[in-house]
Amino acid sequence: MKKLQGIYEYAAQMTAKGKVATYIPALATADPNAFAVSLVSMEDKIVFGECTQLFTLQSVVKVFSFMVAMNHHGIKEIMRYVDVEPTGDSFDSIVRLESHNNKPFNPMINAGAITVASLLPGETMHEKVKSVTLFLEKIIGKKVHIDNEVYLSEYHAADYNRAIAYILQANGFLKSDVEEALQVYLQLCSISVNVEDLAVMALYFATNGKNSAATCSKEVIHIAKALMFTCGMYNASGKFAAFIGLPAKSGVSGAIIAVVKNGTIEHLQGPIGIGIYGPAIDQVGNSVAGIAFLTQLSKEFDLFCL
Ligand code: GLU
Repeated sequence: MKKLQGIYEYAAQMTAKGKVATYIPALATADPNAFAVSLVSMEDKIVFGECTQLFTLQSVVKVFSFMVAMNHHGIKEIMRYVDVEPTGDSFDSIVRLESHNNKPFNPMINAGAITVASLLPGETMHEKVKSVTLFLEKIIGKKVHIDNEVYLSEYHAADYNRAIAYILQANGFLKSDVEEALQVYLQLCSISVNVEDLAVMALYFATNGKNSAATCSKEVIHIAKALMFTCGMYNASGKFAAFIGLPAKSGVSGAIIAVVKNGTIEHLQGPIGIGIYGPAIDQVGNSVAGIAFLTQLSKEFDLFCL
């Protein structure tokens, strides 16, 4: 455990180099020094830091809502509404909404995620949100809740997301009205979990869905992992793939899931899910301590997946 403990302690010092997100007022109150990591295999787990601390999924949820929509409508139908190409733009950018036949480039940026939110199964906002929370609850094995304070804070500061939703609607890429798509999307971003839940969510990908009762086609899990690898870490996705080499997704709350298909990390072996919470983020939106931890971890335990 000494090597892993050392990596955690080294990475924990990096929190000082980041800042908590402030553009969503409720996220600004997070403790910038917080840093928790959970690693789980099918048999065992390791935790560092405050593992009961709750935080919101933010963009991490985009992977799961995309999977629910794909499972419901089929891959071909969803691909009519959203592509799987990286952009190199910031997650909330509107600049490419007039290129690529107006189709959102991928579901990891806000434009694609808002389109996906409108495509979720269910007639009402509540049912659409439920389709994703139920899927997550099957993966994690316990109930999840929406942090209403974060949701309302986001909803009242959603000018950019609302602008995106209107452009999507004008171009025929929304299946519900603007406010419903926005409410579904922002409620999903506000789902509250702890770092152990995140690790179990990551393990779902590492085992190709075999660690839980949540059903998902293997093709959809593959697409989700490919998207994490190519666009999961904002505009550091290329560097993350090149130097860390794991499918991963982060959120502006400082959450990260990272997937080890087959590895050995101390006494953990085989598929391993990694969950990280470190709200001090860098300029592109990734947890600084999280990136430092995963960089060292991948190197020391030879986890590069390609
Ligand atoms: N709810 C956030 C937003 O729409 C998610 C951002 C993120 O985590 O990337 O801005």
